[in-house]
Amino acid sequence: MTPFRRAPRERPDRPPVGYKIARPMLSADGARLGFRGVSLGGDIVYGPLDDARCGYERRHRPPSRWCACGFYCLHDAAAAIELGCATEYRDTVLLEVAVLGVYLRHERGMRFERQRVRRILWPRCACGRRSEGVLDTGEGILGWRALTGSCAVCAGHRPLLRFDAYAGLGGPGVTAACDERLAPPAPRAPIAADLTLSLDQAGGADGLVPQLAAEAALLQARLDWFQLQLGRLGDPTDG
Ligand SMILES: [Zn+2]
Ligand SMILES: [Zn+2]
Repeated sequence: MTPFRRAPRERPDRPPVGYKIARPMLSADGARLGFRGVSLGGDIVYGPLDDARCGYERRHRPPSRWCACGFYCLHDAAAAIELGCATEYRDTVLLEVAVLGVYLRHERGMRFERQRVRRILWPRCACGRRSEGVLDTGEGILGWRALTGSCAVCAGHRPLLRFDAYAGLGGPGVTAACDERLAPPAPRAPIAADLTLSLDQAGGADGLVPQLAAEAALLQARLDWFQLQLGRLGDPTDG
């Protein structure tokens, strides 16, 4: 039996808050923060205040009942932290976001139109010390560098962008800090080992299973709605 979950109180003057994981990015000129989602529309980089775009390239404004696109978040930080434990999500940060615009509320979370990132929480440095800032990972996509949290010792001579300065790029009200509840990234492996691992994952079912599990968690909110509709169809007394 599912325990009854109290819905967060609606406050017209204060937007609802949710939690999610995302891949942190920095623009090529080092002036803007970006975030990539971990599921649908993972190639889209969003700013700290941004509108969702349809990951299926349909021309409509998310969220919609007939499309699974839009920003997703979970009500509980703990649920988002659990998702971030999966091997393929160890390069993510935990975001606390304000849910703006149109939103659909589901049992475990919300799907919504516009988000404002308020807190960016980083795991420890891969060495085990508290992270103090961000470093370029050496990976990225067109126009955006991927970031990882690091301590000053491991940064060595590489430029460590301290959390305060990093958060400042996101505009007023954005903060960044190390959060020891988060699963840390794996220590960087030699390049040859990396290549072997990614080929294995691409070709084998082992890599696919956790991916599907995470997709299922994110889409659970949508299934809740379908189940409700099916329940109504099956009940002749329901108008
Ligand atoms: Zn859509
Ligand atoms: Zn370190």
